Amino acid sequence: MKSDIYRFRFRTGEVVIDHNRCVQCTNYACLKADSLFGTGVLRIRHGRPVLTTTLDDAKRLCNECLTCELYCQAYGNGGARILLDQFAD
Ligand code: SF4
Repeated sequence: MKSDIYRFRFRTGEVVIDHNRCVQCTNYACLKADSLFGTGVLRIRHGRPVLTTTLDDAKRLCNECLTCELYCQAYGNGGARILLDQFAD
């Protein structure tokens, strides 16, 4: 299967989303988390979560709640991962 990785940076890290998993997701838990705890930087387009903002604006607007990954891994289809700069090699 062709890689379909979507990524964007926030102040202290990066969100990495495997859109191949998202197209089979039944609940878009990441979006729910973003609406509850985040700042509405995500929306669904063609069955995949993408930014509502530009890549540059996301760095400023994302409040780094980190719950898109938590909700995705707990309730979604495991497509979202967060890489924090402080844990990078
Ligand atoms: S919850 Fe996870 S698998 Fe589902 S759409 Fe969001 S990032 Fe993709």
